[in-house]
Amino acid sequence: MNISDINVPGNYPYGGVTDLWSVDFIAVSDKCSQCGVCAEGCPVGAIDSENSNLIDEEKCITCCACIKNCPQNARTMKTGLVKDAAMRLNKLYKERKEPVFFF
Ligand code: SF4
Ligand code: SF4
Repeated sequence: MNISDINVPGNYPYGGVTDLWSVDFIAVSDKCSQCGVCAEGCPVGAIDSENSNLIDEEKCITCCACIKNCPQNARTMKTGLVKDAAMRLNKLYKERKEPVFFF
């Protein structure tokens, strides 16, 4: 049996949420030397090794390791990310959600 053959009850995307986190949150400045450190340290291989500006949106898990590892401090979070996340969380989880069971 293939994993794609398994049908799990429920809805997807869960709660209709498709964009809780935006992958477009990393800014790369002109201090970048294209050294490749960020690409090497990305746990999911989301950064192009030839061009650190290219990030695979399907792979990125927003762990921020690339920002932490950059020796040039060329990678930063775009301003507004935390505020945007807070607004989304406030909208989505303002009211209590009751548990839902699937059998
Ligand atoms: S680690 Fe920093 S300097 Fe090196 S390629 Fe990535 S963003 Fe550029
Ligand atoms: S935030 Fe994490 S997963 Fe996304 S590109 Fe940077 S190191 Fe990779």
